[in-house]
Amino acid sequence: MFAGRDVRSDFPTLHQLVGGRPLVYLDNAATTHKPQVVIDALTRYYEKDNSNVHRGLHALSMRATDGYEAARARAAVFINASSPSEIIFTRGTTESVNLVAQSWGQANLKRGNVILLTEMEHHSNLVPWQVVAERTGAVVKYVPVVGDNAEHGLDLDRLDALLTPEVKLFAFTHVSNTLGVINPAAELCRRARAVGALTLIDAAQSIGHESLDVQALGCDFLVYSGHKMVGPTGIGVLYGRRALLDAMPPWQTGGGMISVVEFSGSRWKPAPERFEAGTPNVADAIALHVAMDYLDTLGRPEIALHDHALAEAAYGALAELPGVRLLGPKGKRAGLVSFALKDAHAHDVVTFADQDGIALRGGHHCNQPLMKKLGLPSSVRASFYVYNTPEEIDRLLASLRKIVAFFGRG
Ligand code: PLP
Repeated sequence: MFAGRDVRSDFPTLHQLVGGRPLVYLDNAATTHKPQVVIDALTRYYEKDNSNVHRGLHALSMRATDGYEAARARAAVFINASSPSEIIFTRGTTESVNLVAQSWGQANLKRGNVILLTEMEHHSNLVPWQVVAERTGAVVKYVPVVGDNAEHGLDLDRLDALLTPEVKLFAFTHVSNTLGVINPAAELCRRARAVGALTLIDAAQSIGHESLDVQALGCDFLVYSGHKMVGPTGIGVLYGRRALLDAMPPWQTGGGMISVVEFSGSRWKPAPERFEAGTPNVADAIALHVAMDYLDTLGRPEIALHDHALAEAAYGALAELPGVRLLGPKGKRAGLVSFALKDAHAHDVVTFADQDGIALRGGHHCNQPLMKKLGLPSSVRASFYVYNTPEEIDRLLASLRKIVAFFGRG
């Protein structure tokens, strides 16, 4: 799939025994493992370049600054932003959404305005909007999730009725982290734009799995986390259209983001510095640069094919299990599958699978309102990435068959 490359050998954490069996890591929607080149980039930075950025005039500081700004330029190319100044480094998706909610949201929303979300949003693209709605008097509305099990998806027929002139922002996830639904992001942006609403795409579950082009998508904001795309934890991106960022007030203030400070008041730098107060996460930005290069060496279209094929195979195999309820579409889906077993709680499934060396995730997946709507307290999720193999799906199925037999005894 990846031009004969032995991808697994790039990832040191994969080569360990869990429960006496070789690890099968199927929790990639939560976080992915890191290739040795990314780990090396972090070590190299701390061994050779460690220094504060931007205002340093010595050699190490200049190297650190160059590395940090090169990472920003690489991130712009990675998503086809029109300029590096449209890339703000944050701690991740959650912080990026909070930045937009607190900066743009508090400055622009008022009573009667609507923030449109979908019922499949992760809590991190839902709670910040509830909070800003409460503070500004705006209202949060949701595009419903319709269909049952294999048909789950957004009710796109309702979208035009929901996209009233009161909608100032439509914020939606590209890929559902529970259902595996891939939303038609470009179409959603186009329909929102037609009524004058801004758009924010939560790309946490798509950025590491396919090529994204913010200009082709036509979005105003796009947010993601480095750790879900073979990069380190603690680093992520907010993409924003230049004109919007320049008009937004800072959300955190202090060093690094000011142009002038006087006892009587201060003035701000333009984006991106305006939104990066304090010492930034230099090391992780530099390692994220290497992660982006790594993904492009494998080829993002190839990654998409690989992950989707594994998820479709897993979906088909899981459907054979007695008492299984699969969530999300049967056909084209992202690289993850969620399911519930009639007789076994999700946490028990995850604990039993762990004894077979298989890492799954069980719970509400930060989708509490969606799970409630589906009538499930929790589900089990298997999520795939570049290093997973069809043989690992066989291991998963063998383990689940044992679990079904154990809990089904009645
Ligand atoms: N959005 C989606 C769709 C996610 O799946 C996640 C994490 O699972 C997030 C947002 C939050 O990402 P982070 O915890 O890295 O901020």
